[in-house]
Amino acid sequence: MSEALLEVRHLKKYFPAGRNALLKAVDDVSFCINKGETLGLVGESGCGKTTVGRTLIRIYEPDGGKILFDGQDISRVNRTQAKELTRRMQMVFQDPYASLNPFYTVGEVIAEGFSIHGMYPNKKERQERICELLEMVGLHRDHAGRFPHEFSGGQRQRVGIARALALDPSFLICDEPISALDVSIQAQVVNMLIRFQEQMNLTYLFIAHDLSMVRHISDKTAVMYCGTMVEYGKTQEVYDHAAHPYTRGLLSAVPVADPDYEASHSRIPMDGEVPSPVNPAPGCRFAGRCHHATDQCRGETPVLKDVGGGHLAACHLL
Ligand code: SF4
Repeated sequence: MSEALLEVRHLKKYFPAGRNALLKAVDDVSFCINKGETLGLVGESGCGKTTVGRTLIRIYEPDGGKILFDGQDISRVNRTQAKELTRRMQMVFQDPYASLNPFYTVGEVIAEGFSIHGMYPNKKERQERICELLEMVGLHRDHAGRFPHEFSGGQRQRVGIARALALDPSFLICDEPISALDVSIQAQVVNMLIRFQEQMNLTYLFIAHDLSMVRHISDKTAVMYCGTMVEYGKTQEVYDHAAHPYTRGLLSAVPVADPDYEASHSRIPMDGEVPSPVNPAPGCRFAGRCHHATDQCRGETPVLKDVGGGHLAACHLL
């Protein structure tokens, strides 16, 4: 039986938004990722998926819920525990340029964590490890002495991945790691992540809005809308039998390179505005854009229900 590496239960992250107002960026989100698996987290911009990743790695402190990492409750951690946690849990950021210190050489960027964690104190061994990491991600060992601005976007993201792998983590949060890259480079980076996962038994949270790529890389998929999780399950189930109207709308908008398919399928319109996550009203947050909405939807918040085999969706229609 697969063993869970990360279990997130009823996670909440709220931000103050003026007097007596709270922006509920993540509101009661739960999921589980088994060792060696990838969970794809999808949804439109501003739905809270990046906040989930940042709360897991403690860029933000959670405001509620529980986070279990390898069986240990890490919802509240002291400085020593946080340090160990950041060794085992690393993040690959969306914008590789903004996430690399422009005044550090690539070698220094990769080695930053070594000093913090007392790894590779021997200078020669440290240099060898930096070169090994650069070669692993398809760069040359001579690149260690260059600065981030001397690289292309794809190469910078490779440096970001080398830095994330430097401390031998077991869990990577990949936050839109390909969305800033040229289409021709995206597949190379994703395939590299898949290869590393197989070689090092890594576990991934893959945050993205590109549903095709998420389908390619993920074992399970979670769909977020306005701070809440609306659908969750095995990727094939979610993609082939989407239960929530929002997921069905998102999937209908994915272009398919098949003119016959495109001609026979129409997009499900999702007109209207995404509601504000500041003090959200009760009821389904998707009601303003859903063509099936009823009075019940506007007054009563739907909860996640199992629609079969652990495939969950939050909709009163089900
Ligand atoms: Fe649409 Fe109602 Fe389901 Fe929300 S609960 S997705 S408004 S049918």
